[in-house]
Amino acid sequence: MAKAMPKTPLLDQLESGPWPSFVTGLKRLAKAEDKPYADMMKDLLGQLEHSYETRKGYWKGGTVGVFGYGAGVIPRFSEVAEKYPASKEFHTLRVMPPAGMHYTTDLLRQMCDVWERHGSGLIAFHGQSGDIMFQGTSSEKVQGAFDELNEMGFDLGGAGAGVRTSVSCVGAARCEQSCFDEAKAMRRVVNAFLDDMHRPSLPYKFKFKFAGCANDCANAIHRADMAVIGTWKDDMRVNQAEVQAYVKKNGRKQMIDQVIRMCPTEALSLNDDDSLDVDNKSCVRCMHCINVLTKALKPGKERGAAILVGGKRTLKIGDQMGTVVVPFHKLDTDEDYEALVELAKKVVEFFAENALEHERCGEMIERIGLVNFLEGIELDLDPNMIRHPRTNSYVRIDGWDAEVQKWNARKKSAAE
Ligand code: SF4
Ligand code: SF4
Repeated sequence: MAKAMPKTPLLDQLESGPWPSFVTGLKRLAKAEDKPYADMMKDLLGQLEHSYETRKGYWKGGTVGVFGYGAGVIPRFSEVAEKYPASKEFHTLRVMPPAGMHYTTDLLRQMCDVWERHGSGLIAFHGQSGDIMFQGTSSEKVQGAFDELNEMGFDLGGAGAGVRTSVSCVGAARCEQSCFDEAKAMRRVVNAFLDDMHRPSLPYKFKFKFAGCANDCANAIHRADMAVIGTWKDDMRVNQAEVQAYVKKNGRKQMIDQVIRMCPTEALSLNDDDSLDVDNKSCVRCMHCINVLTKALKPGKERGAAILVGGKRTLKIGDQMGTVVVPFHKLDTDEDYEALVELAKKVVEFFAENALEHERCGEMIERIGLVNFLEGIELDLDPNMIRHPRTNSYVRIDGWDAEVQKWNARKKSAAE
């Protein structure tokens, strides 16, 4: 006889707001009596309600995996399994998504079918690291689910202390702001680290993320240990007729209040004839004006990416955004992409050798100093590698002349 639906008065309240609730989704799966996972989802709802009543979580970890992999499955064992036996194991498979997260509807249907056969039917597109999260299966079904997904061309993503699944914005495939081929960069870098992803052997997790411009739809700057974020080197492209059309339609006040005055470096000025002047030397490529004037403004033609290292959420020390270590990396030719992979390898190698156990790359840099890190990955110091403007007005200037000469010599040799 089929299990009865559990009473869930606390969870029901989550369905009362204006937004779609995950509780509705869980109930739909629990009511699918013809599916093998219906009882599992009923017990899952029961355990969740119990958690809300007691204000305690009842999942504990363990060890579950598939052959040849040391990562990719997040084990979840219930501590209240006697009361909710059907959901006593509720493991998650982290599966690497395609770059830019492009799927055909046929492929999505196939994925749903796999998870109806082997799991709970519950899939999250996508987790914070970018993985597809196939949530809820038992230890004995993990291998079968992975085999079918692998047959379709998918691979398990990262977990634990290794290189994690990467993510790129949709970028060049659909977005006019894209400054490099994000999918290509992600694929090249990820393919170079598959071993580290499958068999974690680093001091702690390491994430790459790729965003085509400073809008950073991939959350790269504050989540990635190494973030590759599109930018440009030459002048922003301006279509003055479109600027004037925008001002005519929306008025000078809106143009001044929402574009000119919002520029963080005061690089914009509006002329009497409603045309726009851009001080490209002051522009920090933040994308704000381009986002507002999408018809009139475009990134320049000499495009590439800034590379930042050390972004992360709160751990031993608080949240950190990545620090620019390469202000502009050209990404046109195959060699440019190869150079990106080489830099990524140096960063990961240095991290592997120098980070403490359970220490993210940004924390390691904070501990040993940015200068030592840059030396370790063989990058020359550059005044653009600042985290924020200096706050101390007292400056020691001994040795400056020699540094200026070195800087000028480097600039000269780079230009030749
Ligand atoms: Fe487009 Fe930039 Fe967002 Fe990528 S990060 S999707 S290029 S706006
Ligand atoms: Fe200013 Fe940002 Fe526009 Fe550059 S991109 S001109 S910094 S608003």
